[in-house]
Amino acid sequence: MRAGSAFRRCTKDGCRANVAASVRACPKCGGHSLSWAFVIDLALPGSKRKQRFGSGFATKAAALEAMNRLQAAVVDGTHVERSRRTLGAYLEDWLAARNDIRRPFPKVATVRCLPLPHTAARPIAA
Ligand SMILES: [Zn+2]
Repeated sequence: MRAGSAFRRCTKDGCRANVAASVRACPKCGGHSLSWAFVIDLALPGSKRKQRFGSGFATKAAALEAMNRLQAAVVDGTHVERSRRTLGAYLEDWLAARNDIRRPFPKVATVRCLPLPHTAARPIAA
């Protein structure tokens, strides 16, 4: 994995300028809303970039800690990418691929009728 980096930036809408660690105000807009952020690249060197950002950290140490946690999760295989795919869509595909399951088996429609019907419409990983 490529090395990530932490940086400080203005959080004012429309500005987002990178600022030095020592300044008290954004040199571009004069705003005082500054925070630390990080960026890492999940792709292997030589392949297309797959950047992930984290922001809103009060200190550089906090940003680096979050960055290291994310990198460790990617290496461990425990990191789950954000997705808009819903549980219902996942179950439809899962059931369609499982021709070995004998009937009767609860259909996806049954899942939609569970006590929490909104569950099937929720993203798996938000
Ligand atoms: Zn600014």
